[in-house]
Amino acid sequence: MAAGGYDQLLTVQDLDLQLRQLRHRLDHHPLRADAAALAAEQAEAEARRAEIEGRRHEVDRELKRLGDEVASVEDKRSKTEAKLYDGSVTATKELLALQDESRSLLDRQHRIEDDELELMERQEEIGAEADAVAAELAALATRAEAVGAALAEATAGLEAELAAATVARAEAAASVSAEVLARYEATAPEFDGAPLARFVAGRCDGCHMQLSAMAVDRLNHTGPDEIASCEECGRLLIR
Ligand SMILES: [Zn+2]
Repeated sequence: MAAGGYDQLLTVQDLDLQLRQLRHRLDHHPLRADAAALAAEQAEAEARRAEIEGRRHEVDRELKRLGDEVASVEDKRSKTEAKLYDGSVTATKELLALQDESRSLLDRQHRIEDDELELMERQEEIGAEADAVAAELAALATRAEAVGAALAEATAGLEAELAAATVARAEAAASVSAEVLARYEATAPEFDGAPLARFVAGRCDGCHMQLSAMAVDRLNHTGPDEIASCEECGRLLIR
């Protein structure tokens, strides 16, 4: 490979390492942890809100049921009272029975109304709980928004650097032969992103081993679109 191609390949490696660092800094920005912690708090508060709403609906349903029951008891009682006073019943025993029934219906109505009052109190408590969690959620949303904005501001610079390095990497890679680039990319993971080593004074500067005379000879006869690897460590050698 032409000397310029090797230089470009070294540039590709430098830029790849730089890109990796930038991505790491982007992914592990301290504000990201704050944002995640806030999101967890929001999820927890949302779950509480759902639980509170569930109880609220239950109480609403129960109140509705009691309201219907009161209406039905009232209706029964007004019919009983009507019968008591419309003159259709004259026998004392029957009249007393109707009076008893009317009284017991009224008692029942009062008991249901007591239950209703109790439920209304509970409804108020639940309403206060719902208000508290809504306020908490609103405060969390405000904080999350602020952290999101700060994170966006803090990472905008990194993203610009990332974009510039991506363009530069593509430009440098364009000057490297496809075969060499493919070998570089295939070998990179094994060497933590830095698979290139310089061949200096008969040694590979990756593993510092002296290359055999045969290997040196092979290296000197590497074609323009090839790249030799160190026989000891496997790094790709840049002459
Ligand atoms: Zn080596």
